[in-house]
Amino acid sequence: MRKKIIAGNWKMNMLPNEAIEFIQKLEPLVTDTNNEVILCVPYTDLFYALLTAQQTNIKIGAQNMHFEEKGAYTGEVSAEMLKSINVEYVIIGHSERRAYFAETDETVNKKLKSALKHELKPIVCVGETLESREAGKTQKIITTQTRLALEGINSEDVEKVIIAYEPIWAIGTGKTATAEDAEESIQAIREEIKKIYGQEISKRVIILYGGSVKSSNCKELFTMPDIDGGLVGGASLEPIEFSKIVNYEK
Ligand code: PEP
Repeated sequence: MRKKIIAGNWKMNMLPNEAIEFIQKLEPLVTDTNNEVILCVPYTDLFYALLTAQQTNIKIGAQNMHFEEKGAYTGEVSAEMLKSINVEYVIIGHSERRAYFAETDETVNKKLKSALKHELKPIVCVGETLESREAGKTQKIITTQTRLALEGINSEDVEKVIIAYEPIWAIGTGKTATAEDAEESIQAIREEIKKIYGQEISKRVIILYGGSVKSSNCKELFTMPDIDGGLVGGASLEPIEFSKIVNYEK
């Protein structure tokens, strides 16, 4: 059975003292959950977040990384650097990075390979624009993004990859995909994985939904058969609200 994962994406928010306070408040609210709780925090919070989350069930991730091992890439951080301080997860190819920082399917694929090489657990984002959705191209876009992200990844490694289906028109807009639409898109992604790796592996890959998830809509999304949890932006910035999403079954 696939585990449910609830991952927060803080984006460019939270100073270290705020991160520490957040984790201290969140911790008692999520101790009883069987779901995986992840906070993907800015680089400057990583060290503080890792220390504060020690001996809790809260896991810490980064929001980006570079695909090269080292070298003249001013301002960048490698997978090995993240791993060296015990970061466990990393978001790759978030739509904001694709839109504002020129990430492509090719860089996403290179980052994914480097993350896996250094034993980081990648959360790879795919999703369509409103224009593509209205043109009826959703499935084509997201299955192509999935295939290109996974190019050259073997069947053992693909099971370590978490995919987040995040329709771009739903991110930070307050508009959520209906549970049925999200399920349909995630089924299409799983079907694409099945084409490449076979049925058994496709059933084991964790696929999240992201896009204006909040405590009031998470249950109907997370109880769909193919949706294995969520990548949560805005609603991950407040501990009580985020804990309600983590504890969506209660
Ligand atoms: C995200 O940042 O991945 C996201 C889904 O944001 P929000 O929940 O705010 O739409």
